[in-house]
Amino acid sequence: MRLTIKIGSNVLTRQDGSLDVTRMSALVDQIAELRGQGHEIILVSSGAVASGRGELKHIQHDLDSVDQRQLFSAVGQAKLINRYFELFREYGIAVGQVLTTKENFQDNEHRKNQENCMRVMLENGVLPIVNENDTVSITELMFTDNDELSGLIAQMTHSQALIILSNIDGIYTGNPTEPGAQLISIVKPGKDLSDYIQKSKSSAGRGGMQSKSSVAFAAAAAGISVIIANGKRENILVKLMNDRDNTPCTEFLI
Ligand code: GLU
Repeated sequence: MRLTIKIGSNVLTRQDGSLDVTRMSALVDQIAELRGQGHEIILVSSGAVASGRGELKHIQHDLDSVDQRQLFSAVGQAKLINRYFELFREYGIAVGQVLTTKENFQDNEHRKNQENCMRVMLENGVLPIVNENDTVSITELMFTDNDELSGLIAQMTHSQALIILSNIDGIYTGNPTEPGAQLISIVKPGKDLSDYIQKSKSSAGRGGMQSKSSVAFAAAAAGISVIIANGKRENILVKLMNDRDNTPCTEFLI
C-alpha cells in the first residue's frame, strides 16, 4: 500500500516545547518496519515552528506572529529534518525534504513539478518528508494546517490511505476527558459529526479535530481511506496496518 502519514506537532514536542526525539525515533522505527512489509510511505511532518520555539527560548524581544513563524520554522525545520535524516539513515533509508506552499497546489505548472518531484523520489526509494514552507508562505495563503496539506499530498501521490497522527485516539462522541465519551471507530461517508467535534485545537499546532474531519471526508470522497489515531501510543502505525480492529482509531470509510 502507498500511505501518507501525517505527524502533528503535538506528537513530536514535549510539554516544554522541545523536540521529543524519543517519540520521533519510535515513529521512525515503525515507518521502517512498514516499509519492510512492503508499504510505500510519504511523511508529512509538522513540528518545525514548535521545535524552533523550543530551541530559541532565550529570545526575549517581542516579535509579531509572522516574524515568529518565520524565525522559528527556519531554525526548527533544520533541526527536524536533520533528526529524521539521521534516524532513517540507521535503517539505510534515504529521506528527502519537500517544503511547499499552497500556491504550489494552485498553479498548474508548480503542481505538476511538485508531483514529478514526489514521483521521482518514490521511484528511487527515497522517503519524502513534507512540510509547509513556513518561512515564505504568506499568511492569507497558508494551508489551514498540515492536515489540509496531508490530504492534498495523499491525493497528489495517489495514496491508498492517509493516517493522521495526533495526541488523541480519534473523534469521540463528547469531550474525551469526560466520562461517557466514546471513540467513534468508523465514520461512513456523509455522516454528520458536527455534534461531536470540539472546536478547540491543539496548543502546539494549527490544526484541530474539525479540520481533520473535513480533510478526512474530502480525502475519503477521493477514494483514500483516512485514519485518525494517537501517535503517542506504542507501535501505533504497525498496529493500525496489521491489527486495526483491536487498535483505537477513527477510520473514515471510502
Ligand atoms: N507547518 C507547521 C510546523 O511545521 C505546522 C502547521 C500545523 O500545525 O499543522 O510547525
